[in-house]
Parts: sequence; C-alpha cells; structure tokens
Amino acid sequence: MNPEQTGSRVAIVTGGARGIGAATAVRLAADGFAVAVVDLEESAGKDVVDTITAAGGRAIAVGADVSDAAQVGAAVQRTVTELGPPTVLVNNAGVLRDNLLFKMSESDWDTVMNVHLKGAFLMARAAQEHMVSAGYGRIVNLSSSSALGNRGQANYSAAKAGLQGFTKTLAKELGKFGITANAVAPGFIATDMTAATAARVGVDFEDFKKGAAANIPVRRVGAPEDIAHTISFLVSEGAGFVSGQVIYVAGGPLD
Ligand code: NAP
Repeated sequence: MNPEQTGSRVAIVTGGARGIGAATAVRLAADGFAVAVVDLEESAGKDVVDTITAAGGRAIAVGADVSDAAQVGAAVQRTVTELGPPTVLVNNAGVLRDNLLFKMSESDWDTVMNVHLKGAFLMARAAQEHMVSAGYGRIVNLSSSSALGNRGQANYSAAKAGLQGFTKTLAKELGKFGITANAVAPGFIATDMTAATAARVGVDFEDFKKGAAANIPVRRVGAPEDIAHTISFLVSEGAGFVSGQVIYVAGGPLD
C-alpha cells in the first residue's frame, strides 16, 4: 500500500518553527504533504503555518515538548484528528548545551539526551502505529557531523551518534511494514543554533560563517533548504529502497 491508496500524505516535523525544521515543513508542504509543525510553543509555529497556507498548503501548529511522552501522544493524536494519520515523521527538534567535559553539568547532559534521543524515540513510537496501519512510512532523524566527535559537545555528539544507531534499528524493525528510516547529518548550517554558538564563543556570526566556509570543500556554509531538499528526497515514495542510511550533508566529505 502507498499513501495514494490510503489517501494520507501527512507529515510531522518536530522543531518545525525555526531553522532546518521550518524549511523542511515548508518544503514538504510544497511537495504536497499536510504538515504538523510541532514545537515547544504552539504560537512559535504560526509563521510557518501562515507561510504554508498562503502558498495553498495545509498545516497546523502544535505545541509539544518532544521529551514528554504525554505531550507527544497528544501531538500525534491532534495530527491524526486534524490532518489525518501521519506517514512521515521528521525528528528535527534539538538543543545545544555545549561545554567542555569537566564543566558539563548533569542537567546539560540530560537535557540534550532528552530532547534529541528520548524525543526521537517517543515521537517514532507514537507515530509508527499509524505507519504500520498504512503499510507505509518514512522516518528521518536529524543527526549531525558532530556525531563523529566535536570538542565541547560530549553530550550532543553522543546523542547524534546515538540517533544513527536508533535509525538503523528502526530500519531493521519497521522495514517489513513498508517503513524506511534514515538519518541526515548536516554539517554547518546557518540557523539560530549556529548563530548562538558564534555568540557563545564571542565571534561575529558573519565572520563565523566565513571561517567555517573556508574549510568546506564547496566554500560555503549550508542553508536550511539544503537539508530540507535531502529530507524531501528521503520521504519521497521513490526512496523506498533507501533505508538505515546516514547521509552527511556538509558540502564535502568529513574526516
Ligand atoms: P534551531 O534553529 O535551534 O531550531 C530548533 C527548534 O527545535 C526550535 O524551534 C526549538 O524550539 C525546537 N525545540 C527545542 N527543544 C524542543 C523540544 N523539547 N520539543 C519541541 N521542540 C523543541 O536548530 P537548527 O539549527 O534548525 O537545527 C535543527 C536540527 O538539526 C537539530 O536537531 C540540530 O541538532 C540539527 N543540526 C543542526 C546543524 C546546524 O548547523 N544548524 C548541524 C547539524 C545538525 P525553541 O525555539 O522554543 O527553542
């Protein structure tokens, strides 16, 4: 069965109010999906929903903390009621709590694990039943080039590497139900997240981007749309034989 047969082309994008998530929500709507824009505050997703509806698409803003099982359950249920059963899930919500290991607090560790890892687990567990019923689904998890190790990001790199193992396991468990699971691992993408990193290290964001671009083979930093484009491919029907993969989208290979 495919979404044409079930009539359900509904996508959930977490952390959809800003950055990569917002670009992905807009792109998937342009691809023909009705999109649930899930973010911490429902009001935060309003601009993205307005952009989508102004272009003739369908979207709702849903407030939920992805690390809270009850809120995740309610968010998925609202999506089902207002848009239809989701057959696409993009686990994009993320936070940074960077610090060198000796200065990293337990709460910095727990926050990052809860949002990235537990959040992806809770969302996938809640969404999969609708995909299994449809006999079709696409799950994309946002990993990062930091999964390969990055100074000051013991928590984040562990979570992003963990998401790669999580993705491969979902691919193995859910493949027989017509569901694929893949991870996209962005390099440097210009968003509020990287702007906050520049501010934290005391470098002007434009200079920060220039410095990063000089070390990227294509000589530019990424835009949220670069990631949205890759996700658009992975959630397309034609990508049904691509599963359990980690695609680095970083303007070149990584060491
Ligand atoms: P961003 O601009 O900071 O946006 C992240 C979004 O996630 C925000 O809207 C944020 O809401 C939301 N969020 C945070 N915690 C949440 C929670 N518990 N429940 C629901 N939503 C939550 O980040 P981005 O740069 O677009 O990054 C998106 C994803 O790509 C993240 O997983 C990130 O780790 C990954 N990534 C980014 C880069 C990069 O260079 N930017 C590189 C590699 C990987 P608030 O606004 O309310 O905080």
